[in-house]
Amino acid sequence: MAKREHITDIFVIGGGINGTAIARDAVGRGFSVFLADMGDLAGGTSSAATKLVHGGLRYLEHFAFGMVHSALAERETLWSMAPHLIRPLRFVLPHHKGLRPAWLLRTGLFVYDHIGPRKLLPPTRTLDLRNDPLGRPLKDGYALAFEYSDCSVDDARMVVLTARDAADKGAIIQTRTKVISATREGDLWTIRLQDATTNLKGTVKARLIVNAAGPWVDTVLRETLGKAEAHHVRLVKGSHIVVRRLFDHEQAYFFQNADKRIVFAIPYERDYTLIGTTDEEFDGDPHGVAITEEETTYLLAAATEYFERPVTRADIAWSYSGVRPLFDDHRTKAQDTTRDYVLTSALDAKAGALINVFGGKLTTHRRLAEQVMERVEASLGKRGKPWTRTSKLPGGEFAPRDFDLQVERLNNLYPNLPDRFLRRLVRQYGTQAAALLGKATRMSDLGELFGADLTQHEVEYLIDREWARTADDILWRRTKLGLRMRGGDRTRLEEYLRTRKRGTIK
Ligand code: FAD
Repeated sequence: MAKREHITDIFVIGGGINGTAIARDAVGRGFSVFLADMGDLAGGTSSAATKLVHGGLRYLEHFAFGMVHSALAERETLWSMAPHLIRPLRFVLPHHKGLRPAWLLRTGLFVYDHIGPRKLLPPTRTLDLRNDPLGRPLKDGYALAFEYSDCSVDDARMVVLTARDAADKGAIIQTRTKVISATREGDLWTIRLQDATTNLKGTVKARLIVNAAGPWVDTVLRETLGKAEAHHVRLVKGSHIVVRRLFDHEQAYFFQNADKRIVFAIPYERDYTLIGTTDEEFDGDPHGVAITEEETTYLLAAATEYFERPVTRADIAWSYSGVRPLFDDHRTKAQDTTRDYVLTSALDAKAGALINVFGGKLTTHRRLAEQVMERVEASLGKRGKPWTRTSKLPGGEFAPRDFDLQVERLNNLYPNLPDRFLRRLVRQYGTQAAALLGKATRMSDLGELFGADLTQHEVEYLIDREWARTADDILWRRTKLGLRMRGGDRTRLEEYLRTRKRGTIK
């Protein structure tokens, strides 16, 4: 908690992808920035996505050409910004008799290939699943399919590294800090904060507030900013299941469902397959949202419609759910509500400079931040120039197609550490993996081993550099090692976090 009264240009409420991207862009232009999140970074929707950096093929059916175009344009920009976190992925879309006709799929993919810039990702190709290895995991009867390009991303790590870059440039990032009220006095906001761990309260003054509270954006407007009538977002829940690996290749599947929805089956964390998502109206508290029996049944049935081997409850290793904060355009069905973002603002310095972010996608967060900055600069004056398009996130200082080269380099530096471990570290930390490993020559140099391949060194790095505090922060958001940990491992990690002395290992 800030002890002395602190005056900042911009106060950002929310440490999801949108809040951290706005903080990063703003501090890079020379504004002072303070960001608070009531929980962990990416503790809201930004760790619960399907984890695609994509144009959104199915949005073409809603004629959302503008949104698809700008999202497609972001794919290679983000891949180059974070080549450790983002990887290109080919999607196999089987034609299903009785569902969308082949000509429609072909036309949609032609548009998808050409509507946005694409230099590195390969174009669509047609497959005959009867004699292509990609047809092997599927039931007989699927023949024609299309294979097209998009990317996948580690969503939670993209948030944390965006925050890290913002902090390295001078932003103050405070997690477990709830914004409890904000009032305007003269030209400044007075923002009251409460530390979720100690309950201590503090005050920060700011010239402008950005409300990037995701599914809580209306709650912040109503309860924190006193705008009692605010009802702008429609909350739509989406759940995923993670099952033991269903196929051996690296491509993902895009399955059409009889209800016109689509479900993805994506290679995940090497030994698993990610299946999702659902679309359910939601009106509860987004905290602690969880998959229901009906959603599980729906996802298992959607996958079993296509895979030769039925996918059952026994295959499920993990599930997670999140709530999409969609801007309410008053359409009837959840799946039809716009996925585009909407910004609203009141920029009069006296009345209270405030920008609200509604909706958006992981894919478009960088552009969203640029557009927020146009409004910030309309209120606070121009400082710098747009700079993030050609920027790098920490650890991303290598070319998009050089991921394997990075792994090879790390293997040369650390010949006695397992390749699988080093590959995971490059995926998570990119060029910074060597800073984490330091002078280690074997695993035992990295301190206590907590299970899977999580070492004391890595835990300390995550606490020092990435705001990690709890076992969940470490096992489910900074890493996905929760998938591989046994019960006792987690208990030991929790005990370590409770009893560790600061700076135990460096
Ligand atoms: P959040 O990540 O929810 O962040 C808001 C933060 O505000 C939270 O961390 C919360 O703790 C904090 N907060 C709230 N109130 C306060 C307060 N009073 N004080 C302090 N902090 C506060 N997008 C894609 O591009 N690709 C995909 O594949 C994709 N799949 C998706 C699948 C699902 C099921 C869902 C739900 C979404 C998906 N999305 C996808 C969309 C994307 O995940 C979201 O648009 C994005 O994560 C929203 O980020 P955000 O920063 O606005 O919100």
